[in-house]
Amino acid sequence: MWTLVVNCGSSSLKFALLNPASGEQPLSGLAERLGSDLASVRVDRNGDPVTVPLPRGSYAQAFGVLLAELDALGLRGAIRAIGHRVVHGGDRFSTPVLITPEVVEVIRACVPLAPLHNPANLAGIEAALATFPDLPQVAVFDTAFHQTLPEIAYRYAVPASWYTQHGVRRYGFHGISHAYVAGEAARRLGRPLPELSLITAHLGNGCSVTAVQGGRSVDTSMGLTPLEGLVMGTRSGDVDPGLPDYLARQAGLSLTQITAALNRESGLLGLSGLTNDMRELEEAAGRGNEPARLAVDIFVYRLAKTIAGMAVALGRLDALVFTGGIGENSAGVRATTLARLGLLGFRLNEAANARAVRGQGGPITAPDSLPALVVNTNEELMIARETAEVAGEVVGRGL
Ligand code: ADP
Repeated sequence: MWTLVVNCGSSSLKFALLNPASGEQPLSGLAERLGSDLASVRVDRNGDPVTVPLPRGSYAQAFGVLLAELDALGLRGAIRAIGHRVVHGGDRFSTPVLITPEVVEVIRACVPLAPLHNPANLAGIEAALATFPDLPQVAVFDTAFHQTLPEIAYRYAVPASWYTQHGVRRYGFHGISHAYVAGEAARRLGRPLPELSLITAHLGNGCSVTAVQGGRSVDTSMGLTPLEGLVMGTRSGDVDPGLPDYLARQAGLSLTQITAALNRESGLLGLSGLTNDMRELEEAAGRGNEPARLAVDIFVYRLAKTIAGMAVALGRLDALVFTGGIGENSAGVRATTLARLGLLGFRLNEAANARAVRGQGGPITAPDSLPALVVNTNEELMIARETAEVAGEVVGRGL
C-alpha cells in the first residue's frame, strides 16, 4: 500500500513514502547540495526531522540513506510502486507512464530540452531500478498536464521549421502542481472540475500561471524552458528576445553567460541585489529598502498582468488559485495582486487573507467578489496517486 516518490533535482534528492489513498506519510527527506562539501540529508520520520551531513555525498549515497531509513521503519518490503518526477517529457508524454527501457530512452532524448533536470531525473530512475528491479516504476512529468494546450497557445511566431525540426514550442511546467490544486480548488468550491474555468498561480522559487478549463490546461506562462513568463526567485521571466545579442555585443558576454545570468542571477535576486527569498524581501521592504520594494512590486505587477492575460484563454473565469511557497504564505503578494485585478471582479477579504497561511489555505475574497483561494500544493501526493493508478493498472489491482 505504500508508494515511494523520488524527485531528483540538479543537486538534490527529495523522497517521500506515502499512502496514495490516505495521504499518510511516515517518511520523507531531502538531500541537498549533493557533490559539495556542504551536502546533507534531512530525514523526517513521522514528523520528527533530523539533518545529517553527507560531505561530497552522491545521489547513490543519498539513496543509500533512504534505504537505511526504510529498513529502520521496516517498510522497504511494503513498497508497492515507485513514482519519479520527471521535468521534461517533450511532446511524447501527456500522461504518467510505466517506466520501460523505451521510456528511459525518450526521457534521455528530452535532455537537450532540460539539460539540468532530466539527467538528474534519470539518475534517480537508474538508482531505483537497480535497487527495486521487480517493482513497477512510473514517470510523472511536469510537462504532461500542458499537452492539452491548443496550437494557438503553444506555438511561437518563429520559422515553422524551428518547430517541426527542433521542437521549438511552448511546453509548460509545474503541471503536477497545477493539476493538483485545480482538483483541490474544485473540491473546496463544491463544484465539478469539468464545469470550471480556473487560473492557478504556482508561486515558489519558480513561478507559473496556468489557465485550466474543465480540468485541462489551455494556456500557461512557462514555455520551451522554465525561464519564460513571470518574475521568479532567480529567473528573469520574459525579456526582449533581442536582449542576448545586445548584451553580447555591449558587455562582451557569451550566450552561455547570459543564459546563466537570466536563470540564476535575475528575478527577485537580480532586481533587489539582496536575495531570491520573498519573505526576506518583504521584511527588507518593510524596513524601507527601496530595491527590495521595487523587486516585490515588479513581481506582483507582472503576475497580475499574466493572470489578466490568462482570462483571455478561458473566456470566463470562475476562480483564481494561489499556491507554492509565496502563494501559500505571502498575504502581501496576494493582496496587492488582487488589488491590481479589480477589473476582473476581485475584492479581497483582508481577515480571510491574513488567516490563509501554510497548512490551512482557504478562500481570501469578499462575498461579492469573484472567488480567489489559497490551496496548499502537494506534488508528492499527486505523484503517488498517479503512480498508484498506473501501477495498479499494470498489476491489475488497486494498490
Ligand atoms: P520551491 O519552488 O523551491 O519548492 P517554495 O514553493 O517552497 O519553493 O517557495 C519558496 C518561496 O516561498 C521563497 O521565495 C520564500 O521566501 C517564500 N515564502 C515562504 N514562506 C513565506 C512567507 N511566510 N512569506 C513570504 N514568502 C514566503
